[in-house]
Amino acid sequence: MKLVLIGSPGAGKGTQAKVLSKHFDIAHISTGDLLREETSQKTELGLKIIDIMNSGELVSDEIVETLLANRVKRDDCKKGFILDGYPRNVKQAENLPSIVGEIEKVVLISVEDDLIVERMVGRRGCPKCGQMYHIKYNPPKEDGVCGVCGEALVQRKDDNEETVKNRLSVYHKSTAPIIDYYKNKGLLLEISGVGDIDEISKQLIDALEGAR
Ligand code: AMP
Repeated sequence: MKLVLIGSPGAGKGTQAKVLSKHFDIAHISTGDLLREETSQKTELGLKIIDIMNSGELVSDEIVETLLANRVKRDDCKKGFILDGYPRNVKQAENLPSIVGEIEKVVLISVEDDLIVERMVGRRGCPKCGQMYHIKYNPPKEDGVCGVCGEALVQRKDDNEETVKNRLSVYHKSTAPIIDYYKNKGLLLEISGVGDIDEISKQLIDALEGAR
């Protein structure tokens, strides 16, 4: 099963991709995570892209395509995968089949812009186990501490108001056109990303099971 999740930053792609990855026993590939690995390890590539990522602009297609091509070669992708954060523009969507083969379904998680800034600026994550929190809507039991593994929670550098606004404008300009691209191919499913996280997961799984 090869899936693509699209949606504005903060729509909940990462959260839902983790659920789908477990349910369908397929790999979760976040190109943002692959890029952040490079920046946190301060590789040559990481140092080249850190300013672009912190500003909310897109990293070049070539760089992301190379990382993706290497990632899908790993064993955990044999049964399939969910792409979270890729493609981000029509060119990437056009190149995708040559990198990973044909995609079966594309799910758009839609959330209006007005909800996004608060969602993202309040977001905190665990650098050790990946558990996500929100300071208002899903706070950890102990302030600033991961309830799963006890690690100190961190805020992503690009989750500040100014960068989030830029990420939204990049989304509308560069990424939103892929919605029509996939609609025209008959691959698109759309669900609302507003409401209870478990309920959204259930709707997603039902829609994908029904489309199989
Ligand atoms: P994300 O974790 O998906 O929100 O991505 C964080 C940042 O990584 C984005 O704001 C971009 O700078 C970069 N990025 C992630 N995926 C891509 C992609 N497919 N193409 C270009 N840049 C990307």
